[in-house]
Formats: sequence, structure tokens, C-alpha cells
Amino acid sequence: MDLQAEYDARDGNWFAKGSKLVRHPAEPVDPPVRHGLRAIPPGLHLVSTPIGAARDITLRALDILNGADVLVAEDTRTLRHLMEIHGVPLAGRPLIAHHDHSGDASLRGLLALLAEGKSMAYASEAGTPLISDPGFELARTVAAEGLPISAAPGPCAAICALTLSGLPSDRFLFAGFPPATSAARKTFLSEMASVQATLILYESPRRLGSLLADMAATLGADRNAAICRELTKRFEDVTRGTLGALAEAYDQHAVKGEVVVLVDRCSPVAANAEDIASALREALATMSVKDAASFVSHSLGIPRKLAYKAALDLDRL
Ligand code: SAM
Repeated sequence: MDLQAEYDARDGNWFAKGSKLVRHPAEPVDPPVRHGLRAIPPGLHLVSTPIGAARDITLRALDILNGADVLVAEDTRTLRHLMEIHGVPLAGRPLIAHHDHSGDASLRGLLALLAEGKSMAYASEAGTPLISDPGFELARTVAAEGLPISAAPGPCAAICALTLSGLPSDRFLFAGFPPATSAARKTFLSEMASVQATLILYESPRRLGSLLADMAATLGADRNAAICRELTKRFEDVTRGTLGALAEAYDQHAVKGEVVVLVDRCSPVAANAEDIASALREALATMSVKDAASFVSHSLGIPRKLAYKAALDLDRL
């Protein structure tokens, strides 16, 4: 018996067949008693799970995993393991594998259960579902069909990395995984070169060196950046430096574990008086003097006082 079959048999796992849920031949072995159950409202509950340290699970996530009528996961083995760590029994409930490519039959099967009024937990392999992970198709369809949906927020590598990076956190752009080939990656990076926000990327450790080299070439070697590795795990490590220095340090240097790469926004190009006046004229067409000054001060990176004075002068004309 292969590992998956052995696992399924042990779990009494369920799977989608057409629009129906079918139980594997083996019956579940968990006792059907769950203590301290909280009533979980009907609908889809998107449950965030740890990205490393198992104790990062939230109490609410445990309540949902304990009380939901149906459990759905990108990887049923990972969810089962997490539940075992936290003493949450399956207790004969369906545990269904589902991801964005599981097909329409699987999706319709889950929707039918939600339409019957079942409470359903959905967890991806790690972290927040939908964030470079499956769950988007399911969540979008559930919302579009007017069925109830809620989220139990929790760990997310992008947010954890942002808080540790030392880079500005007031505005950020999460761009997921860059393309794997260098040409496509350079185009992808250059499209974000002038974005006034901290950029956050996920990357495989194998490609870290080549990503950093392309980032230094496309975004500029002087920009501040950070590499956050193995977050919440034993060998957690944050390395900060310019893109140029990091690209050099990681050139040919094999890295292990999971990584998030972050880079500071580009310095705003110094705006001249005509740029300021033209931006203000446009803003004043739809905004008050105060709002236009604040908007232009932000978008051109100039002092608010200067923008306000120029806006007043223009408004008087
Ligand atoms: N859904 C997850 C989340 O909320 O962060 C992301 C899943 S995505 C398939 C996996 C990528 O997230 C990894 O390749 C890495 O870039 C990042 N990642 C996940 N866990 C991490 C960790 N503990 N430390 C650093 N990066 C991590």
C-alpha cells in the first residue's frame, strides 16, 4: 500500500466524486467525541495556519478546526498532522483535499455542502490561504454565490517578513513569486521599479542568487533590501543590506529553507515647480485645497507645507 493510500485508510478520508462526497473504503478510527466544542456558524472559514512554529496557530483557528462540520485542505496530511499536534480529533468528519486545480466537480461538491448549511474550514499547506496558495477560486465562488464566508487570520510570511525587515511598513506591494526565467523576471521587476512602496517577493532558495542579481540590475544596486529566511523556525535569519551587497553575498552561495525578499521603494525623483503646479491643477479639479496639497505632497514626495502654499496660490488665480 502506498503512503497516500495508507494515510487515507487510516483517516477514513473523503473525496469528491462528481458533485458527491464519497468516503474511502476504510472507516474512520477516531472516537466521535470532541470536547469543548464551540458552535461554528455555517459557511466557509478560511483558516490561517503556522508557517513554521506550530504554536503560532490561533485559538480561533483551533476552535474552527475542532468544530467545523467539514474540513478541507490543500494537503490533507499536513492539516491532519497539525490537528494531531494540537490534539484536535477528526472524529469521523470529512477531510477533503481541494486546491485551485481540483476541477469543477470538486468545487461544486464543496458548494453543495455549504448550500446545505454546513460549516467548512479551509486551510492551505501553510500560512494564509490565497496568499501564493490555493483557495482563491473557492473563496471567490462562495462569495459570488452569496454563501457565507469568513476568515480566521493568522500567520503570513509576507507580513512577518515586513515587520522584521527594517524597511518602511506604511505602504507595501506584495508581488508573490517572480517568474523563473531571467528575461521574464527582469520585465516583471522593471514594471515595479518606480512603485512608491516596499516590495515583497517570495522566492525559492535555489533562485535567490539570480533573483538578487536581477533586482540589483533592474531596481538599482543602492536600494536597501532584506532577506528573511526560515521565519518562526529554529534557524530564523534576517540579512539586511543594499541590493548590490546582497547580490554579491548570495552569488553562488547555496541557501537552505524558505525565503522572503523585500526591497525599499525608489527615492522619489526631485519634482520641479512645473511638475508640482501641473499635479496640483489636476488634483484641484476634484479635491479641496487641503486634500489636493496632501495628495500631491504624498505622490511627489514634497513637503506638505510647500504643496499647500502652491495649491493656495493656484486656487486664487
Ligand atoms: N500562504 C503562505 C503565506 O501566507 O505566507 C505562503 C505560501 S507560498 C507557497 C510559500 C512561500 O512563502 C515560500 O516559498 C517562501 O517564499 C514564503 N514562506 C513561507 N513560510 C516561510 C518561512 N517560514 N520563512 C520565510 N519564508 C516563508
